Amino acid sequence: MNIRVRRGDSFWYYSQLFDIPLNLIADSNPGVSPTALQLGQIVRIPGYYVTFYTIRPGDTFWRLANRLGLNMDMLYLLNPAVNPLALQVGQVLNVPVRVVNPVVRGRRPYTSAALTADISQLIEIYPFLRSRKIGNSVMGKNLIELQVGRGAKRVHMNGSFHANEWITSPVLMQTLNTYLLALTNRSDIRGLFVSPFYESVLLSIVPMVNPDGVDLVIEGPPSQEPYRTNVLAINQGNPDFSGWTANIRGVDLNNQYPALWEEEAARKPDQPSPREFPGEAPLTEPEAIALADLTAESDFDRALAYHTQGKVIYWGFQGLEPPESQTLVNEYARVSGYRPIRYVDSFAGYKDWFIQEWRRPGFTVELGRGVNPLPLNQFDQIYEENLGIFLVNLIR
Ligand SMILES: [Zn+2]
Repeated sequence: MNIRVRRGDSFWYYSQLFDIPLNLIADSNPGVSPTALQLGQIVRIPGYYVTFYTIRPGDTFWRLANRLGLNMDMLYLLNPAVNPLALQVGQVLNVPVRVVNPVVRGRRPYTSAALTADISQLIEIYPFLRSRKIGNSVMGKNLIELQVGRGAKRVHMNGSFHANEWITSPVLMQTLNTYLLALTNRSDIRGLFVSPFYESVLLSIVPMVNPDGVDLVIEGPPSQEPYRTNVLAINQGNPDFSGWTANIRGVDLNNQYPALWEEEAARKPDQPSPREFPGEAPLTEPEAIALADLTAESDFDRALAYHTQGKVIYWGFQGLEPPESQTLVNEYARVSGYRPIRYVDSFAGYKDWFIQEWRRPGFTVELGRGVNPLPLNQFDQIYEENLGIFLVNLIR
């Protein structure tokens, strides 16, 4: 919600008036100097939107504020051109509404377009959420990183490396929405008061690593050539892409990392395939490169790559993982019921490479159980299981 600065206003005053944490207001206005607010300058207030109210006979600011549960000065602030002593029936007022419900509905087929729309909505309501492009997919779709918080502990999460595991994207987005709601409303998640974590944790989320693949699984082959002809050829003419994990060129993005890549390549398909083709070399695909570049420049303290299925969490690679990995995975397991597995006979994945390069905790979280793509009727349960893992990442 945008408001215009009046004489004597301050971020601190807005924080009191709207009951929104001061740090969230400051971070929602990165270009505004809080000590030098200019008259008439636009300031963004997170956690609110504006609706309209049409004046009826007998209305006054005081009565309206009482009826709507608002501080009267909110009405003055949002209606600078209105004379409250001369309200006209039929006149339209701006009225602020606190956001107390999530806007992300994760339990639905979640294409890259759905993700883009949700990101726009979240940024509109929560301008302290930062979004930036870290690359483009093969077909040119934006690869987006979202950041929230300004803490020293940097936690990275990513979803949908694998196309038919796209449910990981809405799980991450709905979880993020839950966190944003709790921040602006100073509320708790499962009894945990989350406000302090905004200052102690920097959360980095790439909700959809493989948007071309996700859209292929959900919507079928793209109309754009040569992709349409190529994916149908790779899929041997089969119009059903539900078994597809790769990117649009038939490369498995989670087999693209230089962590025993040669050993993985030797036993995997040697040409584009719906799944498991590691590419002609490590890091040939723009989606894998974007994640590698982001990771190399971000100094993440830990990374969680979300996949489905099996309700297990892989946490080791060649003994290179630090002792902290075990402590964390035991805590994830305790809150989610998922089973920790140290080693798996599969290499060249993102978490393998993360552990190898930084010797920091890296995890592959396998949400849910069944056949990919997991049915949406598992969504609510998966969301709850992962919410515990999310909270552990704030606390520990
Ligand atoms: Zn996977």
